[in-house]
Amino acid sequence: MVLTSQLTSYNHLPPTAQKAPPFQGGDEWAYLMGRDGLGALLPFDICSTLCDNAHMRKMFQYRLFPHKKQVQKLNETLEECRWLYNHLLGTRKTAYEERGESLSLYQQQETFSILKTERSSLKAVHSQILQNVAVRVELAFKAFFRRVRAHAEDPGYPRFKGYGRYDSFTFPQSGFSITHDNRIVLSKIGTLKMVYHRPMKGKVKTCTLHRSSTGKWYVSFSVECELERLPETPTQVGIDVGLKTFATLSTGEEIENPRFFRKEEKALAHGQRKHSKLAKGTPERRKHRKVIARVHERIAFRRDNFTHQESRQIVDRFGVICVEDLQVNRMVHNHCLAKSIADASWTAFFAQLSSKAEEAGRAFVKVNPAYTSQTCSICGHRQKMPLDVRVLDCPCCHVQLDRDLNAAYNIRGLGLQALGLSVEAPRL
Ligand SMILES: [Zn+2]
Repeated sequence: MVLTSQLTSYNHLPPTAQKAPPFQGGDEWAYLMGRDGLGALLPFDICSTLCDNAHMRKMFQYRLFPHKKQVQKLNETLEECRWLYNHLLGTRKTAYEERGESLSLYQQQETFSILKTERSSLKAVHSQILQNVAVRVELAFKAFFRRVRAHAEDPGYPRFKGYGRYDSFTFPQSGFSITHDNRIVLSKIGTLKMVYHRPMKGKVKTCTLHRSSTGKWYVSFSVECELERLPETPTQVGIDVGLKTFATLSTGEEIENPRFFRKEEKALAHGQRKHSKLAKGTPERRKHRKVIARVHERIAFRRDNFTHQESRQIVDRFGVICVEDLQVNRMVHNHCLAKSIADASWTAFFAQLSSKAEEAGRAFVKVNPAYTSQTCSICGHRQKMPLDVRVLDCPCCHVQLDRDLNAAYNIRGLGLQALGLSVEAPRL
């Protein structure tokens, strides 16, 4: 059968790779958004030996309501950070170009006391925040060198941040606290109103303030907490995502596309049409950018709400979760709005499945999606399946299966194969 060659990735990493990446400022947004690379998961048997420390990092994010003066203070802090970021980037660049020297993180941090005498406005910012800016520069360079080593076509030298392009700062250890009535106290900024909508569990490590594209303020805490294992279950599921329905499970269930997809798609199309009519560089166009940012933000909120609920249900119900690796079938950026909204939703959905499954001790597998629609899940016969053919009609074993359900079966089959499990009630 062709199936073995189709296997791509399953999160079957050596113990060293299993540790959560060291948490450093600058990375936290990638973390929060749940990009790939989080949540490597293992089959149960390997898991139990690896998760000795049984700890993981989690993000808790809350909306802030700073008053006018505090907003000004927060924005000033961002601006100071931006200045420092650009300054550190610049000195690294000149040190290298003029003297062939590579400056280290410590060498840069040591210059802070001199910098503060030259630029007194830096003193208004908590020293730990400034230290963290240097860490971000360091990370940017590390990422750059990693890309160079990987022979990336365009490794992309770290960039200077333009006005308004620096939107978060981090207290890496201290300088922040939460009052008994759930307000947040930030050193050198003040006491801010916070919507503490869910309690934090675990030990708070870092605190990051973030300004959204629409000017809202958020605080996110990185917390070290204990894993919340769910009781083991032998149930398995394969999930096929598509445009007709949001997802089809190998159990025959379908997750419908939420209604807001279509509604928001219209709002976005409308906004973008209007935006393109406004002349470039005009204040109207600048102002209108906010309208579009707001639609994007609303889509992201509703999408996350939807995918979080769906992924929670799946992780609660199934012990082994198999999905297709969307990276393999790299969907090029396309102009079809429906597709791009769905695309972002699947990515979020899979990332959430991955991290929820990790915490719960469930197995999560990504398989190569090639031929999952064309192959008969019963006998393995492969045939052409144009997109408009909704039913797979197998000439070999005469089975008739819904196209998406057949793909879900195949995804489950490939995933189980990758884990070395059999399809029916595995011994776990
Ligand atoms: Zn067949």
